[in-house]
Amino acid sequence: MRIRVLGCSGGIGAGARTTALLVDNDVLIDAGTGIGDLALEDIDSIRHVFLTHAHLDHVAGLPMLADRIFEENVDTPLTVYAREETLRAVQDHLFNGIIWPDFAKLPSPEKPMLRYRVCGPGDTISIGHRDFYAIDVMHSVPSLGYTVQNSDGVFAVSGDTKTNETLWPVLNACDDLRVLIIEVSFPDEMQELAGIAGHYTPRTLTDDLKRLDHDPEIWLTGMKPGEEARIFEQVVAAAPDKNIQMLSIGTVLTV
Ligand SMILES: [Zn+2]
Repeated sequence: MRIRVLGCSGGIGAGARTTALLVDNDVLIDAGTGIGDLALEDIDSIRHVFLTHAHLDHVAGLPMLADRIFEENVDTPLTVYAREETLRAVQDHLFNGIIWPDFAKLPSPEKPMLRYRVCGPGDTISIGHRDFYAIDVMHSVPSLGYTVQNSDGVFAVSGDTKTNETLWPVLNACDDLRVLIIEVSFPDEMQELAGIAGHYTPRTLTDDLKRLDHDPEIWLTGMKPGEEARIFEQVVAAAPDKNIQMLSIGTVLTV
C-alpha cells in the first residue's frame, strides 16, 4: 500500500496545499486543495473518497474532482464515504445546485456520476485488499479518523481532532500499526484557540502519545502555515523518544 501526500497544510500560501492523501491510485482520504496538483490521468483513476469531516480545507477539491469525473463520463462513478452529518453538509452546501451542480443526479438520477455512502464510527469499508475502518474523534464538527489495513500492515490517519478517548484504544488494538499520520494544528502558545477549534497542540498531542502502546512512524500534519517549524520543535522536545517527522507535499509512505 502506497500513501502519497498531496496536501497536508492547515491553510493556503505559496507551496501549501490542504489535506489530501492518495492511497494507491484509486482512493483519496480527504479532498483538500492538494488534489489540484495531480496529473489528469491520476485524477481519472480516483474512484473513492473518504472524508474525515466537512470543513472546507478537507473538501475544497471535491466539487472539481466530481466535475472531472462527470466530464470523462466513466463507467464507475465516484463514491464519497463519510459520516452522515458530513455527507449531509456536502450535499446541502456544496452540491446544492447553486454552489455547484448536484452530480448525484447527473447525468441522470438512475446512473449518476457521484454516489454517497454512509460510513460511521466502527464501520469497515473494504476496497480491493484494503479495509478502511472509521474511528470517532473529537473536533468542532462530527469527524472521523481512519485506519487502513492490508496484509502488510496498518496505517492510521487521525483527521482533525483534539484530545479524545476513542482514537487511542483503536490504535492500540492494531497488531501491526506501521504509520500514524496525526494532526497538530497550533503551537502551545495557542492552546486556548486550539481547544475551541478542536485541535491538538504539541503539549496535548504528546500527552496522548504516552497512551500509544506501539512505536509506529509518526507523521505530523495540518499545521498552520508559518507555524510548522515551531510546532515540530515543540513536539520533538516533549516526546524525544518517539519516531516523529513532519509530513510534506510529495512524501510517499509505504505500508
Ligand atoms: Zn477541521
